[in-house]
Amino acid sequence: MKQQDPGAYVHPDGGPTSATTSNTTFSELGLRSELLSALRGRGYEKPTPIQAQSIPHLLQERDLLGIAQTGTGKTAAFALPMLDLLGDHETEPDARRPRALVLTPTRELASQIDESFRAYGKRLPLRSTVVFGGVGQGKQVDALRRGVDVLVATPGRLLDLMTQKHVDLGRVEIFVLDEADRMLDMGFLRDVKRIVTQLPAERQSLLFSATMPADIAKLAKSLLRDPLRVEVTPPSSTVEKIEQRVCFIEKRDKRALLTGILQDERLERVLVFTRTKHGADRVARHLEARGIRASALHGNKSQGQRERALSAFRSGGVRALIATDIAARGLDVRGITHVVNFDLPNMPESYVHRIGRTARAGREGAAISFCDPSERSYLALIEREIRRKLDVVSDTAALRQAGAVGAVSNPQARRARGPQRRRTRRRRRTYA
Ligand code: AMP
Repeated sequence: MKQQDPGAYVHPDGGPTSATTSNTTFSELGLRSELLSALRGRGYEKPTPIQAQSIPHLLQERDLLGIAQTGTGKTAAFALPMLDLLGDHETEPDARRPRALVLTPTRELASQIDESFRAYGKRLPLRSTVVFGGVGQGKQVDALRRGVDVLVATPGRLLDLMTQKHVDLGRVEIFVLDEADRMLDMGFLRDVKRIVTQLPAERQSLLFSATMPADIAKLAKSLLRDPLRVEVTPPSSTVEKIEQRVCFIEKRDKRALLTGILQDERLERVLVFTRTKHGADRVARHLEARGIRASALHGNKSQGQRERALSAFRSGGVRALIATDIAARGLDVRGITHVVNFDLPNMPESYVHRIGRTARAGREGAAISFCDPSERSYLALIEREIRRKLDVVSDTAALRQAGAVGAVSNPQARRARGPQRRRTRRRRRTYA
């Protein structure tokens, strides 16, 4: 299938942009009226390219291989035709036997997908529920017992529930494997394969992945039958819209620099990436201590803490969210004005993914990366991946604002500051 220009699309909160999605309308895709009116209610005007390319074929019950990541509208691309097909039988769902299964790697993504099913399907008599780890299973078991049409799940919790016989996949008609490459990175591939063995052979299957490493290509081959292949490439189109800068800095000065740049109020909603969970906590504490509303989001946080941090960030109660890559995967928060790479990622794809959290839904965005001497090689990989050089900015102004010294990676400047510091210490000693 010919690939269309991915363009940008318009979100109700995002305001109109000149770049629209495709020339097709949702009604031309063949979706039922209940879905069309839910879409109108959400202010979706036109399908995104992945939606326009996939939905008509999915309605014909074809398998699909989607090379796409979040931000492309891929959730609606699978949720809408699934709801349409499932809506054909108006029978009460069986206890513990869902008719559709969506597997996704993180709790946040699972919740987002479940919310989408509920929103799009609100005029249809279908039930959806979500199961993931890190919370008690009681409510999830109750929902399954009452019966659901669509089950959205992370692999670990689903396997637990299957082992305890709270869920039986023998009736699944449609199966979606979302973010397959992430599943691989997070070590879930084996769990996924175990789950797949429990699905009926006769089913419709969809696999989405941002990249196609060999293991995923092999999995796709075993899962899908004569799939339609749809590829959309938002990263490059999104990345082009993002102002990208790099600041060369010593590692020890990064926190002061972050505090410094956050003095600028144009940095309204800022997502900061650190390499480690402890690093995220340290940065969040540092900012909080300096009066900047900040919160950390990473895998060691409880589900409740993660949800609170996210909703405070969404509502503007928290201005800076400090996250690790895994926690931020697939995060869909509108209005992120800036992404800061406090630590550079060692995988260039992560850079593209991280900065793609801003400039969503047709808006503009900016990304700034702090690069210490040990990260120079990562920067080179990133610049090769995005085929452009990042603009280099000087950190001195921001640091002056923050009242920090010692951050300029210019040996002359450091030499000049050295004696001054010593003089201050000596004077203090004299007065003491
Ligand atoms: P996704 O790639 O599925 O994570 O979707 C990214 C964002 O785009 C979500 O906030 C969706 O609600 C929104 N979205 C999806 N499809 C459309 C559309 N056709 N028009 C406007 N916004 C959309």
